Amino acid sequence: MVSEFEIIHRFFQRELAAPGVLLGIGDDAAILMPDAGSALVVAVDTLVAGRHFPDQTDPVSIGHKALAVNLSDLAAMGAQPRWATLALTLPKADEAWLSGFAEGFFALADRFHVALVGGDTTRGPLSMTVQVQGQVDAARALRRDAAKPGQHIFITGTPGDAAFALQQLQAGEAVEAALLARLNRPEPRIALGMTLAGVAEAAIDVSDGLLADIQHMLDASACGAQINVDAIPRSQALLSLDVESALTCQLNGGDDYELCFTVDADRVEQVYQAAEDSAVSIAEIGIIEPQPGIRCVHEDGSPCTLKVGGFDHFANNHD
Ligand SMILES: [Mg+2]
Repeated sequence: MVSEFEIIHRFFQRELAAPGVLLGIGDDAAILMPDAGSALVVAVDTLVAGRHFPDQTDPVSIGHKALAVNLSDLAAMGAQPRWATLALTLPKADEAWLSGFAEGFFALADRFHVALVGGDTTRGPLSMTVQVQGQVDAARALRRDAAKPGQHIFITGTPGDAAFALQQLQAGEAVEAALLARLNRPEPRIALGMTLAGVAEAAIDVSDGLLADIQHMLDASACGAQINVDAIPRSQALLSLDVESALTCQLNGGDDYELCFTVDADRVEQVYQAAEDSAVSIAEIGIIEPQPGIRCVHEDGSPCTLKVGGFDHFANNHD
């Protein structure tokens, strides 16, 4: 087995000088410097094989997803990604696997100018922990506790796709490539998140399921919401399902890594412009209300009677 030193040197150590990195991989710790006036924003997430990604997932996708789920947390804070550290637990030092993992990880890291500044490898069942560090003007950061009655609620993209892809995989069915990518290669909404800082109010990334994550935001903000379930954008793939199955994926499915955020009424136009500038589709799906709880309704205002809950989350512990 190649040594830990060789793994890091061959697959993860790069010679590039990165902004803000005073000392990178190779010492006991990295020394980092955020831009003057910015606060440091830190998030960490662990992925475990068989729990957060199916065992048969290709290593390039795993490398992408390990970083993407963390970048999604930075997006939900309105932060600019800067650096990352990686702790990898591997059953064996499989060079083809390591090479694929590094390819997926660095392809995404390079797109968002994230420098890998440290890591650790251990032998054991396959899992990985990525910690990301970003920066934000603290006064403009998007927080879960900033929702207030009257604010409009928005969602990016088409939630529910990852859950539908997982259902098909678990049923042994063929999954169309674009749908599978929604599960394996989530796109962190970094550009939009950064643009929304100082414009939107509360935000959260949807990892546990749309309703569960909206509830997290409402709990932090001590208010409630009305959600128009018919306004939640539905992908072409979900349009092939009956309405109840599609809604179950949209409302309860996890792993979407879309952004859900609230906006004051007088900033709604600004938010549509920000989405257009970031080339991300957004939709208004509801309104924050004073009384606690989520009330799901249809377009005509009638209550949505779909029994939600009980969906078997693949990753239900993932914020
Ligand atoms: Mg999160």
